[in-house]
Amino acid sequence: MKKGILVVISGPSGVGKNTIASKIVEQGYGIYSVSMTTRKRREGENEGSDYFFVTEEVFKSYILEDKFLEYAKYNNNYYGTLKDFVFHNLNNGTNVIAVLDIQGGMEIEKIFPQAVLVFIMPPSFEELERRLKKRNTDSEEDIIKRLAIAKEEIKYKEKYDYVVINSSVDKAINDIIEIIKKEKNK
Ligand code: 5GP
Repeated sequence: MKKGILVVISGPSGVGKNTIASKIVEQGYGIYSVSMTTRKRREGENEGSDYFFVTEEVFKSYILEDKFLEYAKYNNNYYGTLKDFVFHNLNNGTNVIAVLDIQGGMEIEKIFPQAVLVFIMPPSFEELERRLKKRNTDSEEDIIKRLAIAKEEIKYKEKYDYVVINSSVDKAINDIIEIIKKEKNK
């Protein structure tokens, strides 16, 4: 059986990565890689489907047991991709869609170069700011930090295999589905 492919989706906070990833999953092109994090759960997020929410102590025990394919600290919280989850699915022929920050994307590129890296760009920086504010899930202070991180992150887009601009969500979803089809047939 043909193995699944690991698709890493990165892009600045608020660019719509999770919306895009969940639609790709809904349409049957892969399974969402549920990461572990020490960040506080936001309203509307579910344990086990958005993240596995744990304490820093638990997260660190996972690091020691080498259970992460990669992990990173973003805005003072830890986030990690679970090795078993990813490889179990890839070996069963299922694509895995991992939504990671740039550090995660770059780390995956090093340790698992077969992964397909997709960077999602906002149509403009102003639009990104507008979307983060509209999302209404983060404090003003957190939004300012996320925008500063975004400015740095955008510099890394050249290191990704594909860059997709999210001016229309449907178009971005279709672009990524085409990428998945093409890469799966390689
Ligand atoms: P948020 O707090 O908005 O859910 O996520 C913050 C950032 O961490 C986002 O860019 C998100 O894609 C990224 N992220 C989520 N899970 C992981 C992970 O397992 N590893 C890495 N490196 N980044 C992650």
